[in-house]
Amino acid sequence: MTQMTQPTQVTSAAVRSPAAQQPQWPDPSRVRAVRRTLRALPAPVAPEGVDRLRERLAEVALGRALLLQGGDCAETFAGNTPAHIRANLRTLLHTATLLEVGSGLPVVPVGRMAGQYAKPRSSPTDAAGLPAYRGDIVNSTSPTAAARTPDPDRMLRARADAVATLDVMAAVAADADTELFASHEALLLDYEVPLVRQAVDGTRYGLSGHFLWIGERTRRLDGAHIELARGLANPVGVKVGPATTPAEVLGYADALDPHRTPGRLTLISRMGADRVAEALPPLVEAVAAAGHPVIWLCDPMHGNTRLSATGYKTRHLDTILAETRGFLDVHAALGSHAGGLHLEFTGDDVTECLGGSQGLRDEDLPARYSTACDPRLNARQSLDLASAVAQILLD
Ligand code: PEP
Ligand code: MN
Repeated sequence: MTQMTQPTQVTSAAVRSPAAQQPQWPDPSRVRAVRRTLRALPAPVAPEGVDRLRERLAEVALGRALLLQGGDCAETFAGNTPAHIRANLRTLLHTATLLEVGSGLPVVPVGRMAGQYAKPRSSPTDAAGLPAYRGDIVNSTSPTAAARTPDPDRMLRARADAVATLDVMAAVAADADTELFASHEALLLDYEVPLVRQAVDGTRYGLSGHFLWIGERTRRLDGAHIELARGLANPVGVKVGPATTPAEVLGYADALDPHRTPGRLTLISRMGADRVAEALPPLVEAVAAAGHPVIWLCDPMHGNTRLSATGYKTRHLDTILAETRGFLDVHAALGSHAGGLHLEFTGDDVTECLGGSQGLRDEDLPARYSTACDPRLNARQSLDLASAVAQILLD
């Protein structure tokens, strides 16, 4: 394996830039100690896997493959059982197979796994006035002030659970005779920065996961998250919502992919079913005119969340499919490559999203609603979506 060292002044620029969505740790000296420990421990993934994923994503950028990214909205420590991880990977592989059949192209499978522990929040407090749950890497879902106090030791548990999850992935991948990759939102800088490592040639890798993305709430161009991603050799993504301007996406392309390396940058469109037809084309056209070889990925989940009549955060499969169809239509009209899907799903039989061949309705949601954050497609709904998309691609 490549010899890796601690970069001397990694990310000092990232650390100085404004950082949105970071927890207020109660004890800064404990955070420093945890960061030191994270720097000393082996990182979860190896640079060779990161390089292989970037090469496979180059094929996606060139229109010769598709990317499928999916898994829980928020992984939890309690949920990290071999059964849950295997079920999610099974769903990832089944969904990928259907997309391969529909498109006639190879599909690169990337889990939202082994590090998807930090969540951005729209409000610092929840409905009860408690500090918001920010993911298991920061605090606990339990509704008490003590449980919601950010605890830096959770970062060590997150790293250990990521390593254990990657072990299960490797076993499943070997059985399926494929390679599986891991991705998450690179949100929590006190976790991400200590896991940056440097190769002897000076190349820096974020080794918390193979693919790292920046979320809709932390994507400001002069912010710490873009600054961190800029210095890494990983393939990286940026979520782009309906308020994104052509100037912003050109800014991401220049900052994150100045050498125009196919596979380096993925723009993850999450517009909403009713906005995609009008919001996406100006962004695709701007990037194409500038000649940047980005991957366009469709996240049909995050622009389509609503509250059910019974008070549950949910999404309807029809709306998810409508955004996917809108995304495919935009790329067909502009002659660009629709690079694939970014989904929130689980292989477990949950009742969190509506519709699909099980016909789930509002009143079905309480039965098995177990997500720690956003509603996920269950195994059946994931295959319903993939079959529908495969049929569109075949037509
Ligand atoms: C997510 O992927 O869970 C998420 C928070 O998405 P976004 O940044 O697009 O809102
Ligand atoms: Mn989510």
